Amino acid sequence: MNKKPTKSEQKNDIYIEAINVFGKEKQMNMAIEEMAELIKEISKVIRYDSIEKPNSNIVEEIADVEIMLEQVKDIMSCHAAVYSMKMKKLNRLSERLKELKGDK
Ligand SMILES: [Mg+2]
Repeated sequence: MNKKPTKSEQKNDIYIEAINVFGKEKQMNMAIEEMAELIKEISKVIRYDSIEKPNSNIVEEIADVEIMLEQVKDIMSCHAAVYSMKMKKLNRLSERLKELKGDK
């Protein structure tokens, strides 16, 4: 029985294909480049624009970085470890915020 792939599985196929076509090292370098582009756009937004209203450049660079980070996680086989670390850090942040608000 063939199950129709979910949107998430289809996206993952595209990431894997990109890694296979361009190579791991090239995609890792592309991740660095995209993160540098996002740094530049965030810096420009802070300096010249409103940080409340996203412009098309910053939206594009956030999307680029998210796409590349998915590939970095694929290349390094660390999706689950990153998810777990993210949850741990979010819990720590939540506890810290409660402390600051005096809830603890
Ligand atoms: Mg870009």
